[in-house]
Amino acid sequence: MQLFDIGANLTHSAFSEDLEGTIAKARAAGVTQIVVTGTTVDETMAAIRIAERFELHATAGVHPHHARDCGPHTIPALRELARHPRVVAIGECGLDFNRNYSPHPDQEKWFVAQAELGLELGKPLFLHSRDAHPRFSEILKAHAVKKAVAHCFTGERDELRAYLDLGLYVGITGWICDERRGKHLVELVREVPRDRLVLETDAPYLTPRDLRPQPKARRNEPAFLPHILNAVARALGRPAEEVAAETARNAKELFSLHESGSSAAAQRPLAA
Ligand SMILES: [Zn+2]
Repeated sequence: MQLFDIGANLTHSAFSEDLEGTIAKARAAGVTQIVVTGTTVDETMAAIRIAERFELHATAGVHPHHARDCGPHTIPALRELARHPRVVAIGECGLDFNRNYSPHPDQEKWFVAQAELGLELGKPLFLHSRDAHPRFSEILKAHAVKKAVAHCFTGERDELRAYLDLGLYVGITGWICDERRGKHLVELVREVPRDRLVLETDAPYLTPRDLRPQPKARRNEPAFLPHILNAVARALGRPAEEVAAETARNAKELFSLHESGSSAAAQRPLAA
């Protein structure tokens, strides 16, 4: 089985002591591909270093939580970092009207700037949206964003419909394993077209609630992706192996990682 974790925050300090072990454990669990999430310019640099060292991939972007810290150098810096052959998407970018760590106008401004950067570079967007529907979809529509993934989808049916109408991929995390707040996802995941579904841990966050035993300090990690896969496969009433292969294929399509080349480097002549 070859699983693809489309989003893990491996630059997080929770992994600084045992990053190598974490990745070895993930590989032993069949998680052969991981995209390391970039959430600020600095974290993007760190994500790229991890991606280089372990032959993984990374995103280049600023999370809406950090929109207030963006400035005139942000987009040029991301543009430069995005040229790295291991960078497969722009993000994590979007809107978070749940925590509101940054003012809404800042969030919108830097979301739009990153959406435009993605279009300019021909890279898909790695999107974060929390309690920001329908504003979030309006922005994507206005900017004619074509290739993108709504990472960690936790919303309701109307939000899912809007994303699917926009042609987005939908990322499912261990949220679906939460018998209280993730219950609706068990039904909604059946409405995601087979070629649009991708899986992710969002480690070290969102540890599946029904994982036994619960890991130390409740740290989530890519090695737990099979647990999420099984929950999704159960919800779909389909064999886990089939869903694993399909979602891995979708992730490769989303990030333009084609089987022929050993990495994205093979198809990105711009890469230095
Ligand atoms: Zn997120």
